[in-house]
Amino acid sequence: MSDNEKLNQWVRPEIRALSAYHVPDPGDMIKLDAMENPYIWPDELRREWLDLLAGVDVNRYPDPQAADLKARLRVSMSVPEGAEIILGNGSDELIQMLAMSVAAPGRTVLSVDPGFVMYRMIATFCGMRYAGVPLNWDDFSLDLETLLAAIEKEQPALIFLAYPNNPTGNLFAKNAILDVIEAAPGLVVVDEAYAPFTDESFMGRLGEFDNLLVMRTVSKMGLAGLRLGLLAGPADWLGEVEKTRLPYNINVLTQVSAEFALAHQSVFDEQTHAVREARGQLFAELERVVGVTPYPSDANFILLRVPQGRALSLFEDLKGKGVLVKNLHGAHPLLEDCLRVTVGTPGENSAFLSAISTLL
Ligand SMILES: *Cc1c(COP(=O)(O)O)cnc(C)c1O
Repeated sequence: MSDNEKLNQWVRPEIRALSAYHVPDPGDMIKLDAMENPYIWPDELRREWLDLLAGVDVNRYPDPQAADLKARLRVSMSVPEGAEIILGNGSDELIQMLAMSVAAPGRTVLSVDPGFVMYRMIATFCGMRYAGVPLNWDDFSLDLETLLAAIEKEQPALIFLAYPNNPTGNLFAKNAILDVIEAAPGLVVVDEAYAPFTDESFMGRLGEFDNLLVMRTVSKMGLAGLRLGLLAGPADWLGEVEKTRLPYNINVLTQVSAEFALAHQSVFDEQTHAVREARGQLFAELERVVGVTPYPSDANFILLRVPQGRALSLFEDLKGKGVLVKNLHGAHPLLEDCLRVTVGTPGENSAFLSAISTLL
């Protein structure tokens, strides 16, 4: 605790109790910790993009509604007719806008654990309670009975379910999610950050429920640097959430660049397709590494369990060999002895495999 008296008096205790979201410096390491697309743009595309940027006037504020970009996103993310959309500076900002819209003392955000850490952090930022319902031990599936009981007890304003889930990589059972939507007293947000790596989606089901929202991001498909997320759902809900959006939250370079990139969707589809192929190969090879248990994934990463007590030393030794992954040991009891590795290029995946095989 700080000995700054004024700070101690005013900064909320729940904020002081947090540790800031830590992002390690990758240096020259092979970066397999953050679910980025490993492929850069083809030269010609890059040149065309730079020409386009050269014509942007950054002395002017961006289009506050980002109308052209929204139109492009509707097509590229198959948002159904009749659904409204709003944009965020990354989907993280959308989570924050949602929480700000419903936050009041005693109100609750509910999700599952282990899950995406920002749901809990943003609930805390906004002065809300967070309830995390544990997933099943064996396969990280939804424990529907416990989940429905928690919804009944907590009466959450907001429920987040990542589909596929991060950091476990699996898809929850569709019918279980439908049961959650029916049982929820408030909003259910299906967070489809990993949509490019799975064939499953709830996007097409918008309109069937008055409390379902679907969230997407362009980060994992290959535009993480732009910071752009999308929330789709009923116009009445989104009209309210839109009021919490800061004006011009999507800057002009992001608007122009994302619109341009999505007009060349096939480039990104090829890249994400290659990642999906590589995921299958990496999974099969990890299964052959003695002492490692990989978990099936519909995302662009694989969660793996390593021999007892070895996660931290393996994480450090992998860094020593120039490969940065994510150590999840200690993050949640279900993640004991677990590491998470992003699927990279075939070359990066081989480097990781040979490093971890040597270390075990
Ligand atoms: C990466 C991730 C996000 C954050 O996406 P940004 O658009 O980059 O903010 C949201 N949800 C889940 C589950 C994620 O893994």
